[in-house]
This record gives sequence, structure tokens and C-alpha cells, in this order.
Amino acid sequence: MEKQTKSNKRLKTAKELQKVVTEYYHQCTAAKVEGKPVGWMPPMNGAIEIFYAMDLQPVFPENWSPVCAAFGLTPQNFEVSEQMGYSRDLCGYLRNIIGYVNGLMNDKESPFGGLPEPDILLSPGGGCVPVMKIFQAIEKRFPDAKVFFADLPQVPVEDIREHHVAYAICEMRRLIGFLTEVTGHRLDEEKLKNTVALSDRACELWDEIMTFRRYKPVPFSAAEMGIMFVMVTLQGTQTAVDFLTKVRDEVRGKADSGMGVIENEKLRLFWDNIPLWYNMGLFNYFEKFGGVVVAETYSAAWSLRMDPNDPIRSLAMKSLTSYPLVSCVSISKRKEMVLKACRDYAIDGVIFHRNKSCVPITLGQMEIKRELEYQLGIPSVIIDADHMDDRNFSVAQFQTRADAFMEMLLNKKMNS
Ligand code: SF4
Repeated sequence: MEKQTKSNKRLKTAKELQKVVTEYYHQCTAAKVEGKPVGWMPPMNGAIEIFYAMDLQPVFPENWSPVCAAFGLTPQNFEVSEQMGYSRDLCGYLRNIIGYVNGLMNDKESPFGGLPEPDILLSPGGGCVPVMKIFQAIEKRFPDAKVFFADLPQVPVEDIREHHVAYAICEMRRLIGFLTEVTGHRLDEEKLKNTVALSDRACELWDEIMTFRRYKPVPFSAAEMGIMFVMVTLQGTQTAVDFLTKVRDEVRGKADSGMGVIENEKLRLFWDNIPLWYNMGLFNYFEKFGGVVVAETYSAAWSLRMDPNDPIRSLAMKSLTSYPLVSCVSISKRKEMVLKACRDYAIDGVIFHRNKSCVPITLGQMEIKRELEYQLGIPSVIIDADHMDDRNFSVAQFQTRADAFMEMLLNKKMNS
């Protein structure tokens, strides 16, 4: 099988995304030049809206890793981190970003001019262990950056109680106090409400876009998941809302006129775990069997509705729930989410990406697999791979498993 290196983009707006990505990274480097404080932080927390509301520039080192994968820069970043002693068994985001800040970043030969150095670091005391270790390593690399040590209870979504929310609210207020002290920027409550309203509107649009995936044929597939970029880096901005409005309009137009990703859609598939950022074209592999990857777990956790009239509480809830929803912290919620998606999108088969690079998201897959079969009679297959490191992905093994699975699904469908 030829390695699928490029995804077949079928949305015009997905092409426009390149412009949005370029502008975002230029905005990050321009901020540094103009003296606007730059803060590096993990994604999936309520800090992004606070940063935009306080006129500070948020930067997401984890999100930089898919960019490096798309530009083929991960091998050199891995080489640097592995030479520093980081094991190949560790998360690919960790090895990539540590390699980048200690290698490529120094010679400025990176895409979009590279990442601007941080003035502030939001070091998480929650989420997965690799993300905490990423920030510890970044702190060592940038000793002059002011560090905020965030503390968050790690609670399954179904167990969140009022005292957890109260604690997260205190942490949000502590963060605002810290940012005011180190940058001199003050938080305007009205501006925060507007930012949270924009963030909520982006989530509303995101949910609406996802509803069009119920259509048969489906108007866009997982190969377009790059549009998620705005949900990671630009939540709380008009740019995200404008871009998602265009995506919604295009997807709605395609759905209404019955234009599918492929002409003869036979099998609707679901992908669990992070995509292979260096090989997004893999999603198109199933097309020769009439299969389309209609939905995936990863995109679901980026949309959390918020109340602009109670912004701090909304952001505290976001910080408590985002990570548990996609990881093994809340397996029962994740299971519920996958089963619901399989019902909503009329899924025929599920592909579990057993991700060598991400244990927190991979844990729990066997339980979800069993429940899918038991409750819904939906078969699934496990694909061994890695979302960042193509040395942990065998194309031949993938092809053998994928082909057998697709043939089984086609037979099942014919005989049903
Ligand atoms: S959640 Fe997974 S991919 Fe993300 S930093 Fe943690 S281990 Fe790495």
C-alpha cells in the first residue's frame, strides 16, 4: 500500500484554514515584537478566554506538535529529545516539543517563524503526567518566564461536586491576580463576558457542524479534522466564530444538496483516539471499500457550552471537565459519548487507535469495545499506531487489519 500522506480536502473552507493558521502564528510572533506578553499553556482549560480578554497572547506548545508533524519536522525534534535521554516510549507531544525548544527553535528555521519565547508559563497540576512534565522541562529551558502553578482536582465528570467547582473558581481568580501582577494588564469583566460569549458561540457552531454528520451521505469526514485548530487556539475570538460560520454554511449546503464525501457511501466508521498527524490521508484509505470515517472521539471534547453572564464559573467548569472527557479519568462518560455518537451517526464499525504515544486516552478502550458489541452489536478493530511517531506505525500491519475489518463489515451489511 502506498503511504497516504495527504488528506483529500473536500471542503473549500478547510483550505481557508491554512490562512487562519498562518495568521494565528504570525499574531503570536508579532505579539512578542510589540511587547504584548506571551503565555504558553496546555490546551483544554479556561485560561485561553482569560488571556484574550486581558489582551495577552496564548500559545499552545502541544498544538505546535501537529504543525511539526505536518511539516515533517518531528524526526529531528525526536532526535534532540532522545539524545537528551527522553525514552521513545514517552508521549510524542512531549518528545517533540522538548526536542523543538532545545533544537530547531534556537536556529529559527521553523514554520511560520517558529514559536515566540514565553514570558509566562501556566504549569498544570492536573491533566496527564506527560503534560506536567512538558511544562517542567519548558520551565528549565526558559528560566526567566514567570510561572503560574495551576492546581486542579482530577475528578471524573460524573463526580464533580460544588466544592470542586468552588475550588476551580478560586484557581481562576488566583490566575487573574497573577496575570495582573506580572503583566500590569487588568481584567475588564465586560470584556471577559464578551470573550466567553464568543467562545460559547464557537461551541454552538461546532455542535451545529457536527449535526450534519448525521446525513447520509456524510458531507465531511474525519480527514477535515484540522478545522479543530480554531477550537484549540482561537476560542473566544471573532476569527473562530467567522471561520466556523463559513464551515457551517458550506457543510449545510453540501448536506442539503446530498453531496457526500464519496459517491457510493456503504460503511460509516468511527475513529477513537488522536489522529495520526503525520498521515491524515489515512482516513481516506477506507474509501475503496465505500467507507467514510464519519465521526471521532477527539473532536467531541472541544465543545463545552458556557454562560457569558457567569464567565468565571463557566471557565472553571471547562477547566474541570475538558480533559476527563477525552481521557481515562472519566471512562464511563467517554463510553457514554462513544456509544451516543455511534447511535447518532448510524455507525457500522469502530476503529480503535491503540496509541503508543498516549496511554491516558488509550486506557479504557477495551471496555468501550466490549460495550459497543454488547449494547449495539457494532464490531470494532484495534489499530496499533502512534499519533506523532511514524516509527511506531506499520503500514503493512494497518492494511492487513483494515482490509479484513472492512470486508467483514461489508459481508455483515450484505447479510443483514
Ligand atoms: S493526553 Fe496523551 S497526547 Fe496529550 S500530552 Fe498527555 S499523554 Fe500526550
